[in-house]
Amino acid sequence: MTVRYTVTPARPEAHLFIVACAVDSPDPDGQAFRLPAWIPGSYMIREFARHIVRIRASCRGRPVALAKEDKHTWRAAPCRGPLTVEYEVYAWDLSVRCAHLDATHGFFNGTQLFLAAAGHEQGEHLVDLRPPRHADWRVATTLPEARGRPGAAKRHGFGLYRAADYDTLIDHPVEMGRFQSVRFTACGVPHEVAITGGVRVDTRRLAADLQRVCEWQIRFFGEPAPFRRYLFLVMAVGEGYGGLEHRDSTALICSRRDLPAPGMKAAHEAYATFLGLCSHEYFHAWNVKRIKPAAFIPYDLAQENYTRLLWLFEGFTSYYDDLALRRCGLLSPAAYLERLGKTLAAVQRGSGRLKQSVAESSFDAWIKYYRQDENAPNALVSYYAKGALIALALDLTLRRRTGGAVSLDDVMRALWARHGDGRGLGEDEFAGLVRDVSGLDLRRFLDRAVQGTGDLPLKPLLAAFGLNLRWESASPLPSLGAKTAAEAGSLVVKQVFDEGPAQQAGLSAGDTLLALDGLRLTERNLDTLFGRHRAGDELTVHFFRHDELRQTTLRLAPPAKDICRLTLVAKSAPAARRLRDGWLGGPLRG
Ligand code: ZN
Repeated sequence: MTVRYTVTPARPEAHLFIVACAVDSPDPDGQAFRLPAWIPGSYMIREFARHIVRIRASCRGRPVALAKEDKHTWRAAPCRGPLTVEYEVYAWDLSVRCAHLDATHGFFNGTQLFLAAAGHEQGEHLVDLRPPRHADWRVATTLPEARGRPGAAKRHGFGLYRAADYDTLIDHPVEMGRFQSVRFTACGVPHEVAITGGVRVDTRRLAADLQRVCEWQIRFFGEPAPFRRYLFLVMAVGEGYGGLEHRDSTALICSRRDLPAPGMKAAHEAYATFLGLCSHEYFHAWNVKRIKPAAFIPYDLAQENYTRLLWLFEGFTSYYDDLALRRCGLLSPAAYLERLGKTLAAVQRGSGRLKQSVAESSFDAWIKYYRQDENAPNALVSYYAKGALIALALDLTLRRRTGGAVSLDDVMRALWARHGDGRGLGEDEFAGLVRDVSGLDLRRFLDRAVQGTGDLPLKPLLAAFGLNLRWESASPLPSLGAKTAAEAGSLVVKQVFDEGPAQQAGLSAGDTLLALDGLRLTERNLDTLFGRHRAGDELTVHFFRHDELRQTTLRLAPPAKDICRLTLVAKSAPAARRLRDGWLGGPLRG
């Protein structure tokens, strides 16, 4: 019951992959073919079927009628087989979630290219990757080569690849082109980084740094690693940032400047952020690819899959991405605390945190977190950032109450031991697991943090570790209570914060600010004009709402306390120091 595909980057100038899907023994009542509506790891309905341009079916050279049943399902008229469906897929989305094809390279996720043959999903799937006509491209994927079969691909080559089932097939993104690559091993497991996009990279440095992160994580969960090889697929572009996790690879997009240049000495912040992204996606190989919400088993790719647990799967992964860099020595304790301060500030900045819990944010990821509009800071909380803070609060609580004997690390390892086999984590199972590991009943603490909208008690918790949490203002200028951006020389309001001066003055996202107290505003002089005023001052603002000239009075607020600093308490007790060193994996110098 093999399903066999061929993929040809046939028309790069039109960004079209030509795909054929052949089924030897189709459903006698009419074989259905369906494309996923979303890609696991990115919780939004994307309706990949909209990228299919032309589609037709045939059996032994004769055309077979195809009827569209719903937006992503086609059904072929009954035939004996073999049945082949041929179609073109438009691929012009330079992201890690979709597909992209031009004359320089091709990248795709199986969710966008491979129609599932209904009823055959559990059987073997073969993919014949065909090379482009006039280019010497290579292939990077962890999809296994179909060894022993005629036309089997060799490593990095075109040819036949194999997946045990459809779910496996679509969890292996494929890059084809002239990428540069570097290899390393971590705990004996071969790893590779393939970098697409013209950029000079110190690949040895990158490999050495990634090796430290990967070895730390494999040892964190315990050897052996749950995969036989691992691939980082990196797309370097002018501006970009993002990643998507898979079971034994990750697709990443980054800015060229994020990658280490040859001869670079100290790691700059952008590179540390890139390593944090790699660390995040790698941690997902355990936390969400193997330890999954029970609600994801199996994925229903036709519609939204609801879980209230993304704060755990994304948030705890976000907590450990930087913490892994710290513990393996790629970030100093001070640099780690600086990054933690940024996460604290990111959560604090939006009043949405007081209105939406992370359980709600997880559940509604499909319509809110992934579809943010100008009102997002006022309406929602990030289950990534607040989830990371819940991990922090839980980690510090466990360490403090057990004198450092138990930590969140033990909880993660217990999650792996009990739920890493694919049985899934139930929506209400986590607090019980924490109790089993630590002997502490933290259900109320967790309920408040996860279901509630109050701020987490991080200040007293950090104090027990000899750390001071202080809020400061990034700028001494009075606050407008809005985010603005320059557009074609004008200053346009992008976001208006709840109950701030801009909202009280009646300004809205999309308004073009023209003048302050009769003086023309430009993208350059906002700070200069503001710098002459203090909180409480009233200013006349002229602005365009659509094409209407309007005027309002704005009363400036004090500078926002939007920066969070974590500093050493002058004389911390030895017990606090011991707890802190255990948590940070090394001493923090003041
Ligand atoms: Zn993630």
